[in-house]
Amino acid sequence: MENQNPIFTSKQEQKEKGNNKSIKNESHKTKLMPSISIVFPVYNEEENIFPLLNATLPVVSAITKDFEIIFVDDGSKDKTPQILIQLKKEKYIKVFTLKKNMGKATALYVGFQKASKDIIITMDSDLQDDPKEIPLLVTKINEGYDFVNGWKKNKHVEKGDKLKRLPSLFFNGLTHMLTKVNVHDYNCPFKAYKSHVAKELFLYGDMHRYIPVQVGNMGYKYTEVVVSNYPRRFGVTKYGSSRILRGVMDLITIKYLVGYKNRPLHAFGAIGIITGALGFILDLYLGVLWILGQGIGSRPLLMLAILLSIMGMQFISIGLIGEMITNNVTRDPDALIK
Ligand code: UDP
Ligand code: MG
Repeated sequence: MENQNPIFTSKQEQKEKGNNKSIKNESHKTKLMPSISIVFPVYNEEENIFPLLNATLPVVSAITKDFEIIFVDDGSKDKTPQILIQLKKEKYIKVFTLKKNMGKATALYVGFQKASKDIIITMDSDLQDDPKEIPLLVTKINEGYDFVNGWKKNKHVEKGDKLKRLPSLFFNGLTHMLTKVNVHDYNCPFKAYKSHVAKELFLYGDMHRYIPVQVGNMGYKYTEVVVSNYPRRFGVTKYGSSRILRGVMDLITIKYLVGYKNRPLHAFGAIGIITGALGFILDLYLGVLWILGQGIGSRPLLMLAILLSIMGMQFISIGLIGEMITNNVTRDPDALIK
């Protein structure tokens, strides 16, 4: 059942019922069949590449003949580069090698910009995702969604390691609360996009963790599907406990960017006006006392008044600098039109 390809339940498929070779009869079907780019970010995955390719190839070639598999080598130091050089000989395989290890988000960015098909699918290269589920995601895109996010509902955790789920539960809960983008598993690597959606994402640092937030805030139609998750068979995870601190900083960034990228003064200006106004009122009050002959030089309130005034000016200035940057960014109207 798992192997069945839901996108073949078209009218043409029904006509050809019982004929397994329907994929070869492509005269009218290619119009229905989407073209697919599969993007794999790869960092030190020498043992995983062949099993990954062997698992992916039959599934994707059963959906469409118009596909490409893109490996972005994120500066691997093991035998990954040599293996990919061999694979590059296949015409459906593209390999891009980053100058150094730049992180998964940058690897995805390069893969997305180089992808040339209608639908882009991403998975990790460690076979923790199941390529057999690709048709599930493709079906959702064919139904009209711009973006499909995987949901590792029953995430694999090592025995006695249930605590490892806590950070991801925490981040998913917090991200949902702060961003109002409604998916369960923001960082699930198994995702599908209409090509232009993936190409519009800003991906650097660890920003891949919040892709659904970006997509949701761009106004695209998104959904999620439950996907499997398996233990890593070979190699090791590339992300240690530092991911928690980095995750918090990236959440602040994404919250700020989606809310205020185009109006930075509104983020800083409000704080600036409130602190500045408080400082001004206190300054005024202390000024009146001084005119009436009271000594104010040693009062802690004076320190607070000066601090609030300076903070107010600084916040407003930061907001204005933000406005200057935003003002100089070229905007693409096509990216705003549905
Ligand atoms: N990866 C990458 N660059 C990095 C770290 C990881 O391209 O700097 C790739 C890695 O090869 C894998 C995916 O990103 O395909 C996810 O990495 P990993 O499995 O280590 O993360 P985890 O599943 O533990 O979150
Ligand atoms: Mg992994």
